[in-house]
Amino acid sequence: MTNHTKVLIIGAGPAGYTAAIYAARANLHPIQLLGPQPGGQLTITTDVENYPGFKDVIQGPWLMDQMNAQAAHVGTDMRFESVETVDFSKRPFVVTTDTPTTYTADTVIIATGAQAKWLGLDSELHFRGYGVSGCATCDGFFFKDKKVAVIGGGNSAVEEAIYLTNHCAHVTLIHRRDHLRAEKIAQDRLFKNPKISVLWDTVVEEFTGNDQPVRSLTGLKLKNLKTQEVINQPFDGAFVAIGHTPMSTPFKDQLKCDHEGYILTTPGSTATSIPGVFAAGDVQDKIFRQAVTAAGQGCMAALEAEKLLNH
Ligand code: NDP
Repeated sequence: MTNHTKVLIIGAGPAGYTAAIYAARANLHPIQLLGPQPGGQLTITTDVENYPGFKDVIQGPWLMDQMNAQAAHVGTDMRFESVETVDFSKRPFVVTTDTPTTYTADTVIIATGAQAKWLGLDSELHFRGYGVSGCATCDGFFFKDKKVAVIGGGNSAVEEAIYLTNHCAHVTLIHRRDHLRAEKIAQDRLFKNPKISVLWDTVVEEFTGNDQPVRSLTGLKLKNLKTQEVINQPFDGAFVAIGHTPMSTPFKDQLKCDHEGYILTTPGSTATSIPGVFAAGDVQDKIFRQAVTAAGQGCMAALEAEKLLNH
């Protein structure tokens, strides 16, 4: 079975839903493929305090339910399907999914997002949302005057450590090697900051904490890879910043991407290397990675698709 649409939106995070809302309200009758994790990264967070429009703390999954309902209400045709292959070599573009349906589309908006990388420890999963976080901008505020750790040695880890000093009493950067991957200028800022110390050649063996009366992280079991010494150090929070993986696998062969797989877009636009294919949100943004920036890019993508269709 083949379905044709003017706008096919792939992905269902803030970028995808916002693109759907704008495209539907422009009478473009978009079809949105929700993918394997509708709602995206916000469905695995808890408190959200930085999405504009809400005075009180809201929950990430609730925010995504609202976006989904809004996109459906204005007429988006949503399908619980995941993309398997795309053919952007001819028009209309052809997209197949994990169902027998094939889609043809005049324009495609890719909003498949990214996934934070985690260390993969059971204890990390246990305390995720209870002291372990993957986003300092989102959760740093909850650790006011506390002692926290940041794990990683790239730009994200260094930026998160510096950002966290705005809220926290002390930040310890924990890195598995004896030098950082982050840009020199960011490193200089990190080393100059009196609220930050660095533990070199160190890995996290376990996230430790309490289950009662409330589940909460209280510390980290750390191992020095050079001396093999294992220590337990108290922390109120731990931020894992070891990189993200953009969800660009089905598109990588057909669109220009950087060496990490992020889809390249024209500056100031969501246009990809193929006219008519747009990319919005974390699948093309490794700098900001915020729900509100992704939503803004989703809006841009829908407006750019509409403009192209009108011409
Ligand atoms: P990176 O891949 O650059 O760095 C990941 C860091 O995590 C590395 O130091 C790596 O260690 C460490 N790491 C990876 N896996 C593990 C593990 N299993 N255990 C312990 N440590 C681990 O990711 P970032 O998110 O920092 O950055 C991604 C991209 O985004 C980069 O290109 C970066 O420059 C860019 N970026 C740019 C920003 C800006 O311009 N303002 C801000 C943030 C990111 P090791 O060094 O030993 O490999």
